[in-house]
Amino acid sequence: MWCPKCCGKSKVIGTVTDVKVKRFRRCLDCGYTFPTTEAIDNDEYWDEYAKKLLKDEQEEKNERKTYTQNGLFKEF
Ligand SMILES: [Zn+2]
Repeated sequence: MWCPKCCGKSKVIGTVTDVKVKRFRRCLDCGYTFPTTEAIDNDEYWDEYAKKLLKDEQEEKNERKTYTQNGLFKEF
């Protein structure tokens, strides 16, 4: 990542790992230190995609439940 002060190259000097990853960087040219955060991008497309996946998964579970119930009914 480029230094926000002089656009020089920076180096990671520390990392804190949590739900998101926080890194501390130091510019190799001017020595300026700054934190950065690494996290999952939240954009609409992926939100919709995640919702659809969840819905499909639930529908699949319901289908399996219906199938099992039918199976049980057949046994009786
Ligand atoms: Zn710099």
